[in-house]
Parts: sequence; C-alpha cells; structure tokens
Amino acid sequence: MLDTPKNRADLPPEIARRRTFAIISHPDAGKTTLTEKFLLFGGAIQMAGQVRAKGEARRTRSDFMAMEKDRGISVSASAMSFDFKEFRFNLVDTPGHSDFSEDTYRTLTAVDAAVMVIDGAKGVESQTQKLFEVCRMRDLPILTFCNKMDRESRDVFEIIDEIQENLAIDVTPASWPIGVGRDFIGCYDILRDRLELMDRADRNRVAESVEINGLDDPKLIELVPGELLEKLREDLEMARELLPPLDIAAMHEGSLTPIWFGSAINSFGVKELMDGIAQYGPQPQIQSAEPRQILPEEKKVSGFVFKVQANMDPKHRDRVAFVRIASGHFNRGMKLTHVRLKKPMAISNPVMFLASDRELAEEAWAGDIIGIPNHGQLRIGDTLTEGEAIRVTGIPSFAPELLQTARAGDPLKAKHLEKALMQFAEEGAAKVFKPAIGSGFVVGVVGQLQFEVLASRIELEYGLPVRFEASQFTSARWVSGDKQAVDKFTESNKQHIATDHDGDTVYLTRLQWDIDRVERDHPQVKLTATKEMM
Ligand code: GDP
Repeated sequence: MLDTPKNRADLPPEIARRRTFAIISHPDAGKTTLTEKFLLFGGAIQMAGQVRAKGEARRTRSDFMAMEKDRGISVSASAMSFDFKEFRFNLVDTPGHSDFSEDTYRTLTAVDAAVMVIDGAKGVESQTQKLFEVCRMRDLPILTFCNKMDRESRDVFEIIDEIQENLAIDVTPASWPIGVGRDFIGCYDILRDRLELMDRADRNRVAESVEINGLDDPKLIELVPGELLEKLREDLEMARELLPPLDIAAMHEGSLTPIWFGSAINSFGVKELMDGIAQYGPQPQIQSAEPRQILPEEKKVSGFVFKVQANMDPKHRDRVAFVRIASGHFNRGMKLTHVRLKKPMAISNPVMFLASDRELAEEAWAGDIIGIPNHGQLRIGDTLTEGEAIRVTGIPSFAPELLQTARAGDPLKAKHLEKALMQFAEEGAAKVFKPAIGSGFVVGVVGQLQFEVLASRIELEYGLPVRFEASQFTSARWVSGDKQAVDKFTESNKQHIATDHDGDTVYLTRLQWDIDRVERDHPQVKLTATKEMM
C-alpha cells in the first residue's frame, strides 16, 4: 500500500482494505450499467441485469416508484457492499437528478472518493459539472471512467482537454483506447504495461489481458492492426509530453484525476477501474467533528447519520438511518450513545446493504455504511459514539429555493398532514415550516419535482390527499443571534415568522430587499441560508 497522507500504512488491515465511494454522472452516461458490472465482478450478483430487474419489480409496487421510472431518475439512495480481491467496496448511490442536489451533497459527505462517469461522445455534461463542484468543495479524490468507447466517440485529447478546462482539474491517462467506434479493439493499460482486448461477442466476459514489454514488444504487432498501433504509439508519445504522470498525492488532494477508457456494457475497462480504486484508494479518512476530529483507527466506535429513509417498506412505519462508521469495529447488539439526545441506543438489528438484499450486519468497520431501523430518533447529522460527546460536522442543510403551501385535501386531516410532513422533513426530503400565524404549512424544496414526489408519497404512504398551492413567500432564512434582539425582531415580524421541524426560528420572505432591511435594522440578528444539521 502506498503511504500518503490519505493512505496510511499503519491503519489496521480491516480498515485499510475498505473503499467507500460514490459514482457521479449525468443521466444516461452509464452509471447503472457500471454499478451492475461492479457488482458482477465483486461477486455480488451472478448475472448482469439483476440490478435493473430487481428495480423494476420494486417499482411496479407503487405509483411513486412508477413516477421515478417515468422520469428516469433515481429518487432514493442506498449503499451496497461487495468484495473485490482482498478489498471491501462500499458503493453509495447518489440520486442522479438535479432536483436532489441537497440529498446528493449529504451522500457525498459519507464517501472517501468519487468515480466520475462520462460518455465518450458527450464529454462533460451539466449534471457531471454540478456534482463535480460538490466533490470539489470537499476535496474528494476523483477517478474518471470514460464510457461507451465501443461507439463513435470524441478524440481522446479533446475529451481530456474538456475535463481539464471545464472542471479545472489535471488529467492523467491510466489507460489509452485503441481505435474508435466500430474499430475500437481495447486499451493499452499505461499503469501496468498491459494490452486489454475487448470481446464483443460476450458482454459479460472479462477482457483478454496480455502482458507486454513496452510499446515495442513484438506481441503488439500480432495483436494490434498496423495503423492502430502506429496511432497508439503517436498518441502515447504526445500524451507523455502534454499530460502529467500519475501523482497519488495530487489525486488524493483532488487536483488530479486518472482516467480509464472502456465500455461498461461490454464489461470492458471496468476491472482496471476497480483495480485503480483498490490500489490508489483512498482508505477511510479522518472525520471532522467537534470538539475533536475522529480517526478511523480509534478503538471506540463512532458514526454519523447522512441519510434517513422513511417507509422503505410501506407496510411498516419504520425508518432506516444510514450511518457511516467513522471509527472502530462495530458489532451487532452494541450500545451506542445518541449524542444529541444524550441517550443510549442498543443497535440490535442493523442492516448492511449487500447487493443481493438487506442482511443483518453482524459487524462493521470504519468506512462501512450500516442501516439502523428506528422510529425517528435518528436524524440526519446525528452522531453515535461509545459515550464521548463528539459531534460530526459539515453536514449542511440548505435554504430551500422553492416554497409552496401544503394543505390537507380534507381539513379534518390537518394534524395527520403535519405528522407526515414532519417525517419527510426529518428524512431531509423537504423543509417544512409552520407559520406563527395562519394555517397550512410552508414546504420548501430545492427542485420543483420534489413537490410532486412529496404529494405522491404522502398520498401513498399516509393515504392523505394533499394540495400544494403558491405561497406568498419565496425564500427562507434561519434566524440566530442575541436572544433579546431575536425576540424583538420576531415580535415585530410575526407574519413572516415560522418554525422548522427542529423548532428553530425561520424568517420567510418574498424579497431580497426584506433580507437587506432586516440586516440593516436588526444588526444583532443573523439570517443564514444554511444551518448545520444536528
Ligand atoms: P445511467 O442513466 O447513467 O444510469 O445510464 P445507464 O447505465 O442506464 O445507461 C444508459 C444507456 O446507455 C443504456 O441504454 C445502456 O445500455 C447504455 N450503455 C451503457 N454503457 C454503455 C456502453 O459501454 N456502450 C454503449 N454503446 N451503450 C452503453
């Protein structure tokens, strides 16, 4: 193992072998197909197609899922674990649609690296760019997979250039494609001096891999047609002059990304990418927290909730809190302290999301993701420890960009609606504000589609018809500052004041002008667009 600040030779082997990452991409670039091949090579499924088939079966169960299918988006994120060689991979799924950026952001707080998938014909697309910016905010190391090389694609230098230009990151080729489109025959593995040849006849077969001895190896002449070989040699010489070599430290800082070329649907290039993730890491990282950071190798277990999913099974009213283990070795049945509630919690039935299905998690190590079924005690941002009062930091809650008023179809059901909305607020699916004056609830989201998702979930999971109406407000700001000043401010602005699901005070407004005015007239009151969740 390479010893760098992010990959330390002194980590306990069980932790050192873990790789926790997410895949980011623009819809249609091939994330699902790549995930499927990861699972296939990880031995978690026997046949490609199972992931989707399973998804379809689940989707037909509800309208909500049908909507997800129609829109071609993945609304719910989950985590899957599988083994690859001596490594344990934890793949955390990010919702793909731009309307779910907040959820995605939180998901990315639970991983140590991201795989960026781009379509070789389309290059860097809008959603890739957005997700990349989020990774950059956290300096996440990024490994790039340029997919669909079996089809007509752009020139390799052009693709690399576009990534460097648009994303302001250095790119180093880990492999180099030989031929394009119909003439694509495989890749030269630059890092290991091998030739990988694609088998077009069998999509699930792993490519033939031939060890070679540099670009002058006579074996190459046998295996690669003359013109393609000449082009490969030229390209690689140019690449060597123009592009930086692989520098692991730079990759770990997020300033350089290695790029692999392949075709997920043909299972081509996927193993090399997996080898890259295994070899270059990074391992489970140090977690920022208050009053001190958490090291993965600490003996005591700690973890934090980055996602809550309610009603995964509509028959049960349970919720699953997804917890990233930040340190230690967790065993089923352990008693952990819920730091926010200052209460012990016996974790008796945690689940791990092995690709085959949910399974009881007998043990987990720093880097793993476990699901803890609970009745609402665990919220996004909560920390669990073996007693110490530490709080994981850096999981933000954004001010919603769109506000609407929610009303129960049946006015007598307003209380039920409140309960349903509060559950979704805790799940992080929306912000819910209860105005100090008047009826109804102001619901805030970051993308229009979320209103439709919410309405259909409330109807499906709670049997409540709900109406979303235009709200008189357009933005929300959390209020903080000197207590007396805050009281005076809320008293004189009652018609703008509401509380969120934590009971924190929020200022609702229509105009930036209002916000500026508050800042001028009430200098001791602070209005913020994000609040850190806890
Ligand atoms: P996602 O939206 O990013 O999850 O993309 P999918 O994995 O669903 O793939 C989108 C489409 O591209 C599907 O029709 C796939 O069959 C197709 N696809 C995925 N990988 C490849 C590839 O390597 N080559 C080609 N030609 N098509 C691919």
